[in-house]
Amino acid sequence: LVRLRGRLSRSQSVFGKSLLAVLARDRLDEDAWEEIEDSLIAADVGVEATHEIVGRLRERTKVLGTRNPTELRALLAAELVEALDPTLDRSLNVAGKPSVLLVVGVNGSGKTTTCGKIARVLIADGHTVLLGAADTFRAAASEQLATWAGRVGAEVVRGPEGADPASVAFDAVKKGVDTGVDTVLVDTAGRLQNKVGLMDELGKVKRVVEKQGPVDETLLVLDATTGQNGLEQARVFTEVVDVTGVVLTKLDGTAKGGIVIAVQRKLGIPVKLVGLGEGPDDLAPFEPAAFVDALVG
Ligand code: GDP
Repeated sequence: LVRLRGRLSRSQSVFGKSLLAVLARDRLDEDAWEEIEDSLIAADVGVEATHEIVGRLRERTKVLGTRNPTELRALLAAELVEALDPTLDRSLNVAGKPSVLLVVGVNGSGKTTTCGKIARVLIADGHTVLLGAADTFRAAASEQLATWAGRVGAEVVRGPEGADPASVAFDAVKKGVDTGVDTVLVDTAGRLQNKVGLMDELGKVKRVVEKQGPVDETLLVLDATTGQNGLEQARVFTEVVDVTGVVLTKLDGTAKGGIVIAVQRKLGIPVKLVGLGEGPDDLAPFEPAAFVDALVG
């Protein structure tokens, strides 16, 4: 939690401080409630979610007759946790043998980095991991994934530059099956020229992979710093492939940690992991209560 707090310090400054200052006022009048709404919206929680959260908070505050800032903070935290649906299963499904995880998202969102970090976590857990470099469009992507593989102790399967992503994905899973590794992570290309193109490409990757067994997880990597606009792009991916979990990256680089709430609400898919930096250990499981606690200080 301390680590999470440190990493979310920028979010905290927007979210926590202004909000807590309002909650500490003697009177919670209309202006105060409006300011609370404004700080949630400024933190990228999203307009609809903010109205709901603040509506419920007002109701609870009235019913309980609460004035104490500490209690108000706890009530707000409880509403934020509730908005994140704490009952969702956020564990990574790595039960298959090998388990196959597709990693999708727009270029620059942090897919390759996330593949490396997930491999790191799984290897630390005693798994063997193979990384498939199916992002064959970005010149450096395959090189970058190979570097990550070396760094964390994973195997890597690469194709020549410009190779068919589906054929590299197929080769990676085949090698995973043949050599008996525990998990194959497939890094895909995120070219978003249009929905049909994306559907063709990712659909094909998925189909060839499924010839050898089920895909256990399709993780959508989303850059937290792109805010509400990034959400619209992300939605296209959820329409094209069956996304089972979201990895929200670069939370360390935004003052708007509330985006987690907007993402989960708009996409209806659990945020499973969060990226908190560029290093191999900068990935954390997403736990609503701990996250909200770090956010509201
Ligand atoms: P891809 O094109 O989706 O594969 O994206 P990359 O993995 O190449 O990442 C793009 C940039 O974002 C790189 O400079 C990464 O180091 C950086 N990056 C990825 N995840 C995080 C994160 O959680 N925090 C920060 N600060 N940077 C990140």
